[in-house]
Amino acid sequence: MRCFLSILIILSLSGPAMASKFEFAGCSKASRQKIIAGVNWLVAHLADIDQQLGQGGLANWSGGSQDRFAKRLVKKTLRFSCHDPCEAPRFKQQQVGAWSLPIGHGAQIPICSAALSLPEQTAAVIAHGLGHLVWINAHRKSCHDRCMKPRLGTSLVQAVHNIATGTPYDAAQCLARCGPIPGQPTLATPDPAEPETPATEPPPAATP
Ligand SMILES: [Zn+2]
Repeated sequence: MRCFLSILIILSLSGPAMASKFEFAGCSKASRQKIIAGVNWLVAHLADIDQQLGQGGLANWSGGSQDRFAKRLVKKTLRFSCHDPCEAPRFKQQQVGAWSLPIGHGAQIPICSAALSLPEQTAAVIAHGLGHLVWINAHRKSCHDRCMKPRLGTSLVQAVHNIATGTPYDAAQCLARCGPIPGQPTLATPDPAEPETPATEPPPAATP
C-alpha cells in the first residue's frame, strides 16, 4: 500500500497522469486514441480499482502485483496490437453486465477497438491484459469458479465495470450466464413470460 501511495503521490506531483510510452502494432489513429483514452481512464481510477479489489468476491492484488500494475501503467512502455475483425482464437468475448468485451492475451495487449465504444470498456480490456502481465494468473477453468473465485485478470475487468457503472459485482448474475453446473441441480427458474405447457404424452407405463 505504501509503495502504491507513493506512486500516486509521484503521479500527482508530476502533473497530468499519462503513461510515458506507447508502442502500437497495426493500430489506426482512431484505435490509438481509444487506447490512450483507456489508459488515461485507468491511471485516473487507480485508487478506485484498489478499493474494488478484494471486495464482494473479487480477487485482491497478490504479491507485488499492485505496485507492478501502477508502474506498468505510468512508467513503462505499454505495447498494444490492433485487430479487425476480432475473431477467435485471438479474441474471446467476455460478458460483463451489458458489456461484451473482446478479450485477447499477449505481451502486446490485443485490442479490438471497433468493439469498444466507451473509454472504460477499453480500460477494462487493458486492465485485464495488464493483470496477466503483472501476475501470472490463468483463468479459472470452470465458468462457476470464474464467477465465484475470479482471479486477478477477471477481477480487474469486473472492478472497472463496477466503477464505470456504479454497480457492485454480482456473482449471481455472473453464475446465471454459466448455465447449469455439471452434477448439480439447476437453479434456473422458468421464464414467467412462458407459461408451462402440460406434458402431452402420458408417462411410460411401468413394466412389471
Ligand atoms: Zn485473460
